[in-house]
Amino acid sequence: MAFVSLNHCLKDARENGYAVGQFNINGLIWIQAILRTAERLDSPVIVAASDRLVDYLGGFKTIAGMVDHLMEEMKITVPVVLHLDHGQSVERCFAAVDAGFSSVMYDGSHLPIKENIQNTKKVADYAHSKWVSVEAEVGSVGGMEDGLVGGIKYADLNECVELVSCTKVDALAAALGSVHGKYQGEPKLGFAEMEAISKEAGVPLVLHGASGIPSQQIQKAIALGHAKININTECNLAWRKKMAETLTENPEVFEPRALTLPSLVTIEEVVEEKMREFGSVNRVSEMAAKRS
Ligand code: 13P
Repeated sequence: MAFVSLNHCLKDARENGYAVGQFNINGLIWIQAILRTAERLDSPVIVAASDRLVDYLGGFKTIAGMVDHLMEEMKITVPVVLHLDHGQSVERCFAAVDAGFSSVMYDGSHLPIKENIQNTKKVADYAHSKWVSVEAEVGSVGGMEDGLVGGIKYADLNECVELVSCTKVDALAAALGSVHGKYQGEPKLGFAEMEAISKEAGVPLVLHGASGIPSQQIQKAIALGHAKININTECNLAWRKKMAETLTENPEVFEPRALTLPSLVTIEEVVEEKMREFGSVNRVSEMAAKRS
């Protein structure tokens, strides 16, 4: 089964008050855990590679090939979006499209808004000509991701509206207080700003830095238009904890498979918990029933 674009699943999610999870990959077992859980729970899913990890993971073509082949071998039938997370340049977004990704995020959030819009439009024009969806970012999600530290900058309503109308992006990451990595204290999302941006921008919103956000705030963000929610840190923390336990409990074992498999299962547990929390479980059959 080929990858689908964000439009295939975010429209239904937004209309029906749930969100589709984006789960970032950090190696083969992440892909297996994410795909297996999505299939078991009858949920659409977004498998994402962060641009900063693309070379570590073997390059755009390797990633696209790996996910595609795993879907075939694992007999995955639910819709899967293969998404580039935080694309660092127009050229790298083009490379992801050319390698077979079905969705790309261009992250021009560090640039002045005019430049962000210009570059996002270049990406959107190219991606849309190949039926690939595009996500953009306005404002800036703080915290630490893949070794890069950034500060929080709230998205401006007018900038969001201008970017969406000029570029025709399919989804918008409007930074409103969430951070990548671990939170220091309780996350405080800007719900009033969120409501206004969601209404005026008119596209599904994307919540970055969702690991560690309490369920009540997640539900509110979904109700206010977030149809895509990104998770990386919680899977990685669970993986790390299980790896450490397994190594301690099995000091003599050196077979990689025996040491790695328990942490694959813990990643699956986190993905399942998030899919249930976001309300995406059983939505594939429901969508199919609505179409027939
Ligand atoms: P977390 O670090 O909170 O899991 O966020 C992931 C993310 O937003 C990827 O873009």
